[in-house]
Amino acid sequence: MPRLMGSWTDGLVRWEQRMLPAECLVCQQRHHEVGEPLVCAACRMQWRAIPAPICSLCGEPQPLGLACRVCAEWPAGFGPVRSAVQLDARVRPLVHRFKYLGWWRLADSFAARMAPLVDRASDADLIPIPLAAGRRRRRGYNQAERLAAALSMQTGLPCRSDRLGRVRETPTQTRLTPEGRLANLADAFAAAASDRPAILVDDVFTTGATLLSAAGALLDAGAPEVQAITFARAEPPLAGSAARLGTLIHFRVTEELV
Ligand SMILES: [Zn+2]
Ligand SMILES: [Zn+2]
Repeated sequence: MPRLMGSWTDGLVRWEQRMLPAECLVCQQRHHEVGEPLVCAACRMQWRAIPAPICSLCGEPQPLGLACRVCAEWPAGFGPVRSAVQLDARVRPLVHRFKYLGWWRLADSFAARMAPLVDRASDADLIPIPLAAGRRRRRGYNQAERLAAALSMQTGLPCRSDRLGRVRETPTQTRLTPEGRLANLADAFAAAASDRPAILVDDVFTTGATLLSAAGALLDAGAPEVQAITFARAEPPLAGSAARLGTLIHFRVTEELV
């Protein structure tokens, strides 16, 4: 009889695990509803938005009101670019899991913060930044594609990954300067001919070089305008310009206030 009781309760636990919501990846609180994103609404609220004021075109924080250097040479038709949250100590490990460790289900949670920034009236196609075929095979999925698909579900805009392809695999970007990144990415993308507007989707904005290169290919292929949205934005890399320095000081002040 005790054995029977045991199997009954085991079965009940298994049934409960299947039917009841799982817990939040960050705070471990049990979800209130089945099918909620991996990160609960309360934890998503703690991700910090990009501090205003920002450049109206590229979305970079501009605390000193100086002319923006990030987008000074962007082509007509590209922008605005927006990012939902800062890539800080709270967000960075989640992006790492999302990108490299197979946690693609985080896409729903990230897209929930991005969706309010998407220009739904644009009637544009959401286009994920493609990975080179080799890298995609090794990773098993393209994180930008998962993000664009989740964003499509939440905004109703179509996801069209077939409009943009990677022509060649580029060496990893992380150790390159902004100029080096741009040279590294020249002609890295090829776009299908289309006269529909586009919104590029990627996980992180670092220097904007990847988005700029992809936007160039789409504009050349007939897109009337190309906007872009990323989940997170990296703090600007150390650079000599006053604007960069001002941004860094601002970030530090913000860090101390929070
Ligand atoms: Zn939580
Ligand atoms: Zn700018």
